[in-house]
Amino acid sequence: MRRRSLLAAACTALLPARTHARPPEIDVAASNAELFARLRAPGAPLRDWQWIVVHHTAAEWATLEGIDRYHRKRFGDPLGAEYHFVIHNGKKRPAGLVEAARWRYQELATHLFKPENAPASIAICLIGNFEERPLPAPMLGALVDLTAALMRECSIPGERVSTHRVVDDKLTQCPGKHFPRAEYLRRIGAGT
Ligand SMILES: [Zn+2]
Repeated sequence: MRRRSLLAAACTALLPARTHARPPEIDVAASNAELFARLRAPGAPLRDWQWIVVHHTAAEWATLEGIDRYHRKRFGDPLGAEYHFVIHNGKKRPAGLVEAARWRYQELATHLFKPENAPASIAICLIGNFEERPLPAPMLGALVDLTAALMRECSIPGERVSTHRVVDDKLTQCPGKHFPRAEYLRRIGAGT
């Protein structure tokens, strides 16, 4: 009896420490829904966006903070990331979680590709290397939902949704040969 209650006390004492050690759970669907609901209130006057272009980082362990630092140094841009949104892959943050990046400033991103091929484009970046592996379903689902929300909120037709490789006329592999372009365009209701 005494041993059992001591054991129970020990287990109870362990519980808060274990709970505390875990990173906070993120409800990806709720977080994304909240972000999509306030797309038109990004914190700066909304720009007249014309295109949506999909990229990847080609790096599996990227974070928005790391991309910010890298682009700030590489392009000399104090705003950091040249991507308006990033979609996480489950390595550093949950798979399918969408994070607003340059969108918060409503500034153009002009360093990543020829801007004349897709002027005023919203850059969505998938974290990961999809030249090397398939795109996980939760990431594609989040990309489809984000694209559909942006098309609706910014009145962008399906013909102006594309990928970096196509708008730059095959000068890059981005967002990778495994990116399911046809399925993506079909799911957002656009042609190939
Ligand atoms: Zn790209």
